[in-house]
Amino acid sequence: MRVLAIANQKGGVGKTTTAVNLAASLAHLGKKVLLVDLDPQGNATMGAGVDKARLAHSIYSVLIGESTAADAVKVSESGGFDILPANRDLAGAEVELVDADARESRLKDALAHHADDYDFVILDCPPALNLLTLNGLVAADAVMIPMQCEYYALEGLSDLVNTLKRIKQGLNRKIEIEGLLRTMFDPRSTLAQQVSDQLVKHFTSKLYHTVIPRNVRLAEAPSYGRPILAYDKTSKGAQAYLQLAEEMLARHNPVETVQPV
Ligand code: ADP
Ligand code: MG
Repeated sequence: MRVLAIANQKGGVGKTTTAVNLAASLAHLGKKVLLVDLDPQGNATMGAGVDKARLAHSIYSVLIGESTAADAVKVSESGGFDILPANRDLAGAEVELVDADARESRLKDALAHHADDYDFVILDCPPALNLLTLNGLVAADAVMIPMQCEYYALEGLSDLVNTLKRIKQGLNRKIEIEGLLRTMFDPRSTLAQQVSDQLVKHFTSKLYHTVIPRNVRLAEAPSYGRPILAYDKTSKGAQAYLQLAEEMLARHNPVETVQPV
């Protein structure tokens, strides 16, 4: 089981869109996937077609220890993956966990029982470096950072990188940056192209080759409770997220090289 956190403390950079559509694309490629919604806004939950208003259990009740992950897990019919859903209740977790034991590793502990059930766990983090994101980063093997190619794209990245360094020194030694993902890319924008060139220069191997284009179908799909593959499979957005999933899988399963004897 590989746990991948989708994180960037900036809002509106495409975290949730990436989490939902990467989960669906990996499922489409035959992987068993669990999506965990760590944002009280519950956008990933809705985007996966699960009604956040009707949850007996949620990631909130899991984190505060009122239910198990098995109690709370739902199936995204449109996405072909499982989901630990979230709603406004989750906003209270931060306060309620203040004095709790191991409050940063609640999610990691909850997922530990499910290592055999999934190939991938995708964590949709909220737009803040708060306790919920911290739970995500402690549970994760790696983090994927979606970025919009705009003027302020790199601002805030150093805060995230510093947070990751601190986590690596203590709470989670194995965490690594899996990659930076260019999202909502508009090839006609000179600025977007310039920022993209900068990213290529600075992050070379950490940057995914796949670029997610700005595509209105990606923005429409959540209102139908569907990942893009179930909404418009032939759209540029659907093809891009499928390509991202393939690129990710190829990175982790490089063609085996034969050792000379
Ligand atoms: P975050 O989770 O980082 O806050 P979202 O994934 O919710 O960001 O995206 C912010 C907004 O931009 C949403 O309305 C979403 O539908 C839209 N969006 C995300 N990615 C794209 C894209 N590639 N093309 C067009 N719209 C997008
Ligand atoms: Mg989001």
